[in-house]
Amino acid sequence: MPVFTDWPEGPSCYPCRSMTLIADLVSLHHVDSQARALRSRLEGAQRHRTIQERQGAQLQTRMDEVRTQIRHHQSSAANHEAESGSVDARIESLRQQLNASTNPRQYSAILAEMKTLQTKRDEIDELALAQMQKAEELQTKLVDIEQQATERAKIIDVANAEFETCRAEVADRLASLEQERIAAASRVPRSELEAFTRAADLYDGEAMAELVTIDMRRREYVCGACNMELPAEKYALLVSNPNVAVTCTSCQRILFLPQVATAHS
Ligand SMILES: [Zn+2]
Repeated sequence: MPVFTDWPEGPSCYPCRSMTLIADLVSLHHVDSQARALRSRLEGAQRHRTIQERQGAQLQTRMDEVRTQIRHHQSSAANHEAESGSVDARIESLRQQLNASTNPRQYSAILAEMKTLQTKRDEIDELALAQMQKAEELQTKLVDIEQQATERAKIIDVANAEFETCRAEVADRLASLEQERIAAASRVPRSELEAFTRAADLYDGEAMAELVTIDMRRREYVCGACNMELPAEKYALLVSNPNVAVTCTSCQRILFLPQVATAHS
């Protein structure tokens, strides 16, 4: 059970103050949860923008890769074509020698070399064709990726605009809530503030829970957040001393009675 004899700052006892610890915690919860919700909204818009930008960058990388591959295949095809051209020139030269040849043995030798070179040229032409086909296939793929990148760029623009709008909308309110939170937090003793922050971090800002009375006669109570049964002593303690931070046995949220929330909402 928290003891309030070692408060680091502020008044030495809560009864000297106009507000109780529980009321101060509820006030803190009020501003803290609003600030967290706004921050979460802003972070959500920022996260969405970051995801879209990352996908845009991935598309850009893929485009660069495909363009490099296309250039590689085009260059390879050009090399094969040049090689085919020089083989062709050699064949043409042999053809002239063939026409001028009068020696049957020489004629046969030239003819055989020409046939070998023609086979070689055909093979080179096929290689050149295969490289050009690959380049064309990649060109089709590139057009598809470019379209995706164009669409993604539009989505990024929208995400950017949404983020800027969100920031403009929440910036002022968030700044004033942060100030209110500092003021509200300064009224809460350190150990209770730590318990509050721990629960707020754990439950996305929902650091406090209402103690719900199920049956007063049978002394049945539950935590309004996690619905777990609470010992009757928790209720008794809250009713008798509003300057004690009573936590839920199960979820560790700080408990309050409904009338406190109504008074300070
Ligand atoms: Zn609970």
